[in-house]
Amino acid sequence: MIKINENYLKLQSSYLFSEIAKRVAAFQERHPDTRLIKLGIGDVTHPLPPACVQAFHRAVDEMGRAETFKGYGPEQGYPFLREKIAAEDFQARGADIAADEVFISDGSKCDTGNIQELFATDIKLAIPDPVYPVYLDTNVMAGRTGPFKDGRYGGVVYLESTAANGFVPALPKEPIDLIYLCFPNNPTGATISRAALAEWVAFARDTQALILFDAAYEVFIRDDSLPHSIYEIPGAREVAIEFRSFSKTAGFTGTRCAYTVVPKTCRAFDVEGQPRLLHGLWYRRHTTKFNGVSYPVQRAAEAVYTPEGRRQIRGLVDGYLKNAALVRQVMTDLGLAVVGGENSPYVWVDTTRDSWEFFDLLLQKAGVVCTPGAGFGRCGRSYIRISAFNSLENVTDAMERVRRALA
Ligand SMILES: *Cc1c(COP(=O)(O)O)cnc(C)c1O
Repeated sequence: MIKINENYLKLQSSYLFSEIAKRVAAFQERHPDTRLIKLGIGDVTHPLPPACVQAFHRAVDEMGRAETFKGYGPEQGYPFLREKIAAEDFQARGADIAADEVFISDGSKCDTGNIQELFATDIKLAIPDPVYPVYLDTNVMAGRTGPFKDGRYGGVVYLESTAANGFVPALPKEPIDLIYLCFPNNPTGATISRAALAEWVAFARDTQALILFDAAYEVFIRDDSLPHSIYEIPGAREVAIEFRSFSKTAGFTGTRCAYTVVPKTCRAFDVEGQPRLLHGLWYRRHTTKFNGVSYPVQRAAEAVYTPEGRRQIRGLVDGYLKNAALVRQVMTDLGLAVVGGENSPYVWVDTTRDSWEFFDLLLQKAGVVCTPGAGFGRCGRSYIRISAFNSLENVTDAMERVRRALA
């Protein structure tokens, strides 16, 4: 008899985005003339930077000629891209990361899920609340969370991010083996200081834990005091794996390119308590189950590091941050407390009431779609996430409507 993986039965239905879609569709049916403005999605809206498009085109042409055609590439990624990443994203910031510690992939979503294959099932997990749902659901699938009861999984330690702790969770009081951190954060938009990140690194070193650091929104950091990478913290190489993506950096959500850094000195422990290096294990996993990102996509990603690419991305991100500043301004003027939006495309707004109630209010009164915080965890129940991924025109229009609706 073929049996299923029972862990899949513990998954909660992804109620959030289907419920939003349902409410939006019902509203639109009753008000067919209202032009809805969507500030709910976590997807970019501006097209690829021209430098990336040109590099993409050139590489496609190479694939069409016998002399320059390429078949399977190196599974870990082409050296031309890994070397740029190591030099520009890490070494230039004083982080000691080499090109062969970088693994190119088709997304951080997949990487944050796949990486857990390296770890035992009976480990203690710490996951943020509110959270990017992928961290939680992939661990449910792997059988690490225990059953779902009263809104939470019994086997998970929830790292609560609240106004009281400045949206940076406190160190756990109990032993933890695997810790997920995401800064700048999705959904809160909060950032972590160098000192606070150093405390997490020290905690992981002291307790033989490992940190999975998701820096998908690194490009939005404008405050020079903030760390861009966990490897800017001394001692992090042994205790942290970092995830980066070109999705939010350069509009690659539909093009697909990301990377994971596993330093050669990063360790976990075997049943005898002996340290084992994770680089070789991830190399084995990656090269066995993945055949590499396409050559033209890697060339397009490489163009991110050219002077034109950098300039274009700067402009793109400036545009999103301008939208975020506008959202912050209007929400603050309306008397609501906000976090995020300064080094992040997300603004997390304390609505002081039920997040679905506020979602309905914005939808009905302003024709603006946001994301109710309850969908990201218990700590989001009174919050909404407003995304800056839209045109300035739409965000300006949306904020004008919200101002009128809530005045
Ligand atoms: C968008 C996002 C990613 C990137 O995912 P890709 O699969 O690379 O597109 C990773 N982490 C978080 C928290 C995100 O919001």
